[in-house]
Formats: sequence, structure tokens, C-alpha cells
Amino acid sequence: MADYSGTAGFIVLNPWGQTVWDQIRGYLDDRFAETGVGNAYFPMLIPESLFEQEKNIIEGFDPEVAWVTHGGEEELAERLAIRPTSESIITDHMGRKVRSYRDLPLRYNQWCSVVRWEATETKPFLRTREFLWQEGHGAFPDEETAREDTHLRLEQYADLYEDVLALPAMTGRKPDHDKFPGAETTFTVETLMPDGRSIQGATPHYLGTKFAEEYDVTFTDENEQQRVAHTTSWGASWRTMGAVIMAHGDDQGLVLPPTIAPEQVAIVPIWTDEDKGEVLEYSEDLRAELEAAGVRVELDDRDHHSPGFKFNEWELKGVPLRAEVGSNEVADGTVRLVHRPDGEKVDVDRAAVAEAVAEELDAVYEKLYERAAERMDENVREADSRNEILGTIGRHGGYVRAGWCGDVDCEAEIKDQIAAEIVMVELDPDADPVSETCAVCGDSATETAYYAKTH
Ligand SMILES: [Zn+2]
Repeated sequence: MADYSGTAGFIVLNPWGQTVWDQIRGYLDDRFAETGVGNAYFPMLIPESLFEQEKNIIEGFDPEVAWVTHGGEEELAERLAIRPTSESIITDHMGRKVRSYRDLPLRYNQWCSVVRWEATETKPFLRTREFLWQEGHGAFPDEETAREDTHLRLEQYADLYEDVLALPAMTGRKPDHDKFPGAETTFTVETLMPDGRSIQGATPHYLGTKFAEEYDVTFTDENEQQRVAHTTSWGASWRTMGAVIMAHGDDQGLVLPPTIAPEQVAIVPIWTDEDKGEVLEYSEDLRAELEAAGVRVELDDRDHHSPGFKFNEWELKGVPLRAEVGSNEVADGTVRLVHRPDGEKVDVDRAAVAEAVAEELDAVYEKLYERAAERMDENVREADSRNEILGTIGRHGGYVRAGWCGDVDCEAEIKDQIAAEIVMVELDPDADPVSETCAVCGDSATETAYYAKTH
């Protein structure tokens, strides 16, 4: 899907990976479009003065910002930030678009790359200096509508994981010390990897009025009163692909859910000199019928590779179903379908092949989802003390639910010992904590925290 590149910290997204990304993009675009979001595009370079207007953004991103200082040989009068995120330029733009309550809500989404100059080791799709993502931005007349929209984005992201990536998702809030810079509330979708670490899947933020105040997104309401808008933002990156690779892949390579696989079925004909003609003709008919039924299908009729070589290659690429066609299948009027995740073989009737393929693709999705859901279910545990948190995560990985007083120092104690952190707190801020006391310090608990190691 990707390769390291000639630029340190940056990767190449290969056509196979780009096509997976396009599938994810297609799903989110449809969901966003049906809920009032239009795609737009904003400049990648942001003047320093504009960027620094919102001080939380500077504090949060300053060490990671890459700056353009020259145009050709000439030094610029003002440095330009390469966007690490676009709240500044988009909120500034909203300030010029919004005049009256009739202009609200206003929602933009852009698909782009951002640059964050992380000094850590490059890990494709998880840690790269430039990454692809979508960033949605909204302006609303009041807190209620802004929060509603943030919850809607959280649901859409959870659906992306559950319905498209075959990964169960937990939704929650980030603890205050780990919110997006300047946000009132950051929500998160978390999912568990086979190595016992959590991955942060996507994050919507309710930004309150801070950004709108700085960038002057004000409007006249129904009563001719001047008011400040409430803004939101929400983002999902190609980390989604990192999660899929880690969660479903095995020793043979990639395993892709049928929903996002560039090819859903690879037809591998198995011929001898005598039956090559009829096997290929049967295979070509099969390909045409599946394609007409809307299946993404490839007929691998390459002469210079053996069927065994082809099996391996399609397995490596993660194609969910292999269709084998040999002289037996031609004689019997059948097709052999093989599930990528576990090699299960199903012989289906050629006459009803389109329905059968749709069923088997669903079955593959279910297999992937079930396996991941079982892992998630088995790996949420509870703990009542600092040592129990440390011991449980140390032994099993996964999540540990524990009472928390809200003090960042209590998380720091766990972080220092085993590099686990609070990945989220319970979604409902009014929910009773799992225990009356903080597992670390023993003070009264205000939240249920989920501790885990992370990617
Ligand atoms: Zn505490």
C-alpha cells in the first residue's frame, strides 16, 4: 500500500493504498453530503499572523509547524505556515461569509494533506510528517446545535469503523489535558489492535466560541442582536488504513474488508494445454457477470505465473475472495470461492454466482468483524488500584476502566511506569464513575477513565 520515500519522514502512497483510501473517502463523502457538508478547498499556506491569532493553536502546534520562509531567492516579509490543521484559515474565511443567522449553519469539509514535523521514527499511516486526512469545519448559531453536529460526526466515524473497516469502535471523550488545542470537548473513536494497544480512530471537536471570537465569526440573530458563532471541527486521517492493516493482517500479508478492497474477487484460472481455451472462456464470462453485478473483480490470466504464485500474490494484497476455475469447475458448472482470512472453501453454482459472491463477501466481513469484536470484548477490564492498573495492562494489554479524579498527575503516574495513558473517559459526562474513588490517588472519582497503551 505504501513505500518509504526519498524524503525522510514522508511516505509514498501506492495505487493499491490510494484506492483503499478512495473507498474510505467515498463512504465519508456520502455521509457528510447527506448531513449538510460541502467539500471545499483552502490554501495549504497560512500567514503567521493569521495562524497565531488563536493562541491555543500556536501553543498546541508550534513545535510541529513547518514554515515557508523564501519564495525563490527572496525572503518573505512574513513566514507562511504549512497547515498542520486549518482552523485558522477556515474560521477566518467563515468570518467573512457569515453575516446573519440565515448564513448558519455553515459546514465545509476538505480532503488534503497536512504537515506536522514530528521528530519520531516514521511508521507508515501512523507516524509520518505529512499525512492525508479530511478536516470538517462547522459554524453554528448556538452551543446546542454545534454539540449536536459534533455528536453526529462521532456517530459517522463510529459507523465508518463498524460498517466499513470491520472494526468495533468505542466512543468517548478525551480527558481535558488531551483535548485538541483550544477545544471545549474532544470526542474520540478508539479501537483495539491485536498487540493490545488502542488506536485513536478519528476525533470530532466542539470548539465553543474561542475560535469564532478570534476570527470574528459573528452574526445578527432573529432579534437583530449581534452574536458570536459556535464552531466545530472533525478529522479522520489515513490512520484508518493503519488500523485496518494492523487489525486484520496476518503472516501472509494484508487482509482487507470487502467494503474497501480495491478488488473484491480475484479469479485465478487453472489450466493445462488441453483445456486452456475453455477454462479462460468460462473465467472471462464469470468476470463479466460479476462486474455487471457491481463486484470489483480481476481476472488474473497472466501467462508467465503459476496459479500458486497468483494465489500468494492476491493473498498478500488482501483480496477478500479468490475464485478458482479449473476443468472440474467448467465440467460441473461451479466456481470455487476461497475466503482470504482463513482459507475456507465454498463451491458455488455458476448459475447463481452473483448472489453467492455477495453472500460470501458478507461472510468475510462478518469473520473479520467478529474476530475484532471478540478481541475488544475480552480486553476491557476493571481495576481498583494503581498497582492493579499497572499489572493488568502489563499482563494483558487492552483497556482498563478505573475511577479517576480528573487530575493529570494521576495519569502521569501510570504513564511513567508503563507508558499507558487515559485514551478516553466515558462519553456521557453525567454518568456515574465506575468506582467512587480514583484508583491512583484515592480521592473522590469524577470520571470513568480508560487506560491503555497507544499507537
Ligand atoms: Zn487521582
